[in-house]
Parts: sequence; C-alpha cells; structure tokens
Amino acid sequence: MKLLSFTALQIRRKILAREIRTSDLIKELYERINKVDPDVQSFLALNEKAAFDAAKEIDQKIANSVKVGLLAGIPIAIKDNICTEGIATTCASKILRNFIPPYDAFVIKRLKEEDAIIIGKTNLDEFAMGSSTENSSYKITRNPYNLNCVPGGSSGGSTAAVAADIAFMALGSETGGSIRQPAALCGVVGLKPTYGRVSRYGLIAFGSSLDQIGPVAKDVCDTALLLSVIAGKDKHDSTCADIGVPDYLKGIDGGVKGFRVGVPVEYFGKGLDDDVRTAVDKALKIYEKLGAKIVEVSLPHTEYAVAVYYIVANAEASSNLARFDGVRYGFRSNDVKGIDEMYCRSRSEGFGNEVKRRIMLGNYALSSGYYDAYYLKASKVRNLIKKDFDEVFKKIDCIICPTSPVPAFEIGERVNNPLEMYLSDIYTIPANLSGIPGISIPCGFSKKGLPIGLQILTNCFEEAKMLQIAYAFERETDFHLAKPKL
Ligand code: GLN
Repeated sequence: MKLLSFTALQIRRKILAREIRTSDLIKELYERINKVDPDVQSFLALNEKAAFDAAKEIDQKIANSVKVGLLAGIPIAIKDNICTEGIATTCASKILRNFIPPYDAFVIKRLKEEDAIIIGKTNLDEFAMGSSTENSSYKITRNPYNLNCVPGGSSGGSTAAVAADIAFMALGSETGGSIRQPAALCGVVGLKPTYGRVSRYGLIAFGSSLDQIGPVAKDVCDTALLLSVIAGKDKHDSTCADIGVPDYLKGIDGGVKGFRVGVPVEYFGKGLDDDVRTAVDKALKIYEKLGAKIVEVSLPHTEYAVAVYYIVANAEASSNLARFDGVRYGFRSNDVKGIDEMYCRSRSEGFGNEVKRRIMLGNYALSSGYYDAYYLKASKVRNLIKKDFDEVFKKIDCIICPTSPVPAFEIGERVNNPLEMYLSDIYTIPANLSGIPGISIPCGFSKKGLPIGLQILTNCFEEAKMLQIAYAFERETDFHLAKPKL
C-alpha cells in the first residue's frame, strides 16, 4: 500500500535510483486494483499483460543504464474515449463495444515515448456526456471517499482511480468541465489545457470546438510533469497550436507575491454550497497571506454560459456522432430489413438515453429555420463570454473560484433531472467556451468528509503561471495528502 500512495515524481525517483523495480510496482498495483476496484469500479478494461511486458523492458533498460523517458515506469490510466492501439476504446457506449482502434492517439504515443505504463481504460459518461459517470452503459463508478456518492464526471473513472491509489496519474478529457469537476469531487488535481495546447488526434470527438485532453494527478507537480509530456504541436490536429512547450516544473515554486487574483462575483451567488464557499474563502485568505492581492471582478455574461454550452456542444455532438451508423464502427443491429432500418435500429439500440437526447437537441438547433435563432445566437454570446475574460485578464493574473457548486452528490440523486445535472458545470463551462486553461486542486472537505476543489483560471497558454499559483497553495496546505479509507 505504502508504495502506491507515493506521487508519480516520488516513484520515478525510486525507480531511477533502483530502489524498486517497475515490475514489482505493477504487481502491487494490480493487486490493489483487484482489491478495491470491485467497490470503486473505475476501470472498464485492464491492460495487465502489456503493462507487465512494458515494466520488464523498463527494468532492463535501467539495469543496463540505458536512458529512459520522463515517465519511466509510471502507471497511467486512460479515459476510454482516447484511442489506444489494440485496446478496446468504447466511450462507455454499446455502440463502440467492440471497437479496437488501429492507432494510438497523439497523447498515447507521447506517453509511450516517455516510457509510461498504460494500465487500463477508465469509465466515463457515455461519449463524455454527463457530470457523474452514471451515464456509462457498463457500470457506475463510485466516489472513493463515499461509495454511495458519484465521483463526478465525465472523467470519473480516471479521477476515482487516482484518488484510490490504483493509478499514479490518468488522462481525462473536457468539453465542459469533465476533468476539473470530477477532480474536485474526488480530491485530486485535474487540469484543462488551453484549447489547442494538447492534440485532440485520437480523442473521440464530442464538441470539437470545446474538447481537450488533460492530466489528472495526485498533486500539482505531477500534473505539471504530465502536461509537459502531452502538450505540443501535432500535424494530425490542425487546431493544435505551434507554440513551444515549457518545462512546466521549472519555476513552479515561484510563489504568488504581488500577483493579482480576481474573484468573480458571479461565481459566489445562489446555489453555492456553504461548505464549498467556506473552503474557497479560506483558500483566498491563504493567497492573501502569501502576498497576493485579491480583487473583485465581474464576468457579466456568466449567467448565459450553461445555455450557450448546451446549444454549441449538442450541435457539434449531433454532427460528430453521425459517423456511428452501424456501418463503419462497432455495433450493428441484427435482423433488419434494408439500410434505413439498419441505421435506425443500430443507433437506437447502440446509444443510451442521454446521448440520444443530445443528438436530438443538437439536430434541432442546427436545423434550417432554427440555426440563426439557436446556434448562431449562441456563438455570438459565446464571444461575449470570451470578451469578459479578455477584459479581466488585462487587470489580473488569475481568477480563483470554486470548481463545483457542490461536493459529491449521491448516486441517483440527479439522474432524473438533466437540468440539475447540467448545473454541476456552471463554474467550469465558461473556460471551455473561451478556450482558456483551468485547474482544480483540493482545498478542503465538507462537513460530511467529501473533498472540495478550488479552481484557478488564467489567460490562454499561461499554464505555467497557473501551475505556479496552484503550487503556492498546495505547499501551504495538506489537503492533497488526504487518502480515502478503502
Ligand atoms: N458535464 C458536461 C456535459 O455533460 C461536460 C462534459 C464534458 O466536459 N465532457 O456535457
């Protein structure tokens, strides 16, 4: 157990110093997975044989003093909407049940180049649509801090695995908050990069103008390390920026003295849980003590963000998901008469209810006669939301606010009320609409003992500064060291 509670950077040091062998680490890890994952249910598939083979290879390299990569021997879990060559990638949907990608996503290629060990694929809301990981067609993931509660979503499998010490790090994906929100609810760190910072090649598309892959980790430094590896130009994704990738660990301990921290009034209104408010207020006091100046700011179009998001994201989803037709990938319905029935039945039987709801809403918003009223209007308001951020970032270094309005809620509590579920992302969605980066770090616990996340947002491509601000808080506190009792 002890070994598995280390951070990735700590374990890497031990591997390089030959204090432990990667194969032993992997053995201990799968033992723990077998012990705790029947309760947590974070994995959809394990990659045990390949992980052991990779571990042996790394041990050999180290024994022979051959140079190894930045993530040598570090066990990483991958959200199951990221393509992994030869390993089923299902998006937690029936429609992709037997889809085995013939190629690796860009980020997976990078992980392999740096000698990381892919240990398995994690559960998610079907096609990343949801905030609780209850929309999976296969299983419900549980919050390691309270098995009756959700881990958040849609990257709930990845954040639960890291919180439960059955993965040292993980990859998640965001369209509207799906890394930061579950990171907050599970008490781990989750980062959404600037749109274009990380290649989307091999990420199964949901809302292409919003989607980003990002790191989930036990602390801020591990997050910085993983981001350094996955960020950067990729010729297969034309929206991926050709901007150099800094070493995000360098300068991370620079502190926040003299920094201006903006606190948006709109993020502290109705619907914010008292425990979350108290924890965030305390965090702001700590920043003040560390020499930052707290200033109140306003992002006046925040109130439209959720509505805009559900038009833009669903419109893009309805178009992206058209490719799942029973012909090209995965599931095809049997006993059908003719091609129309084959399309119709394959999609009706292959997609779950939430995905169907979004395809219908998206098609409606894009249909002729409604396009101007919905999609075009939403795109204009999206622009105003981005301008709000442009304005405030002229005066401040970062925004600090809650990640989620509430700590983890109970399984079943919100599934029958999509609107209430959609409000889970009220504080995360504006960053996706604007393309700016965001991070969630642990900042306390509710009275019921559930983790609370603090969100830090900066301007585009300022991930280094964002990590520095996050680390300043982390080294003053020990919330990131807490462990669930499993
Ligand atoms: N919860 C939001 C949704 O349901 C965001 C999902 C995401 O970021 N992938 O769309």
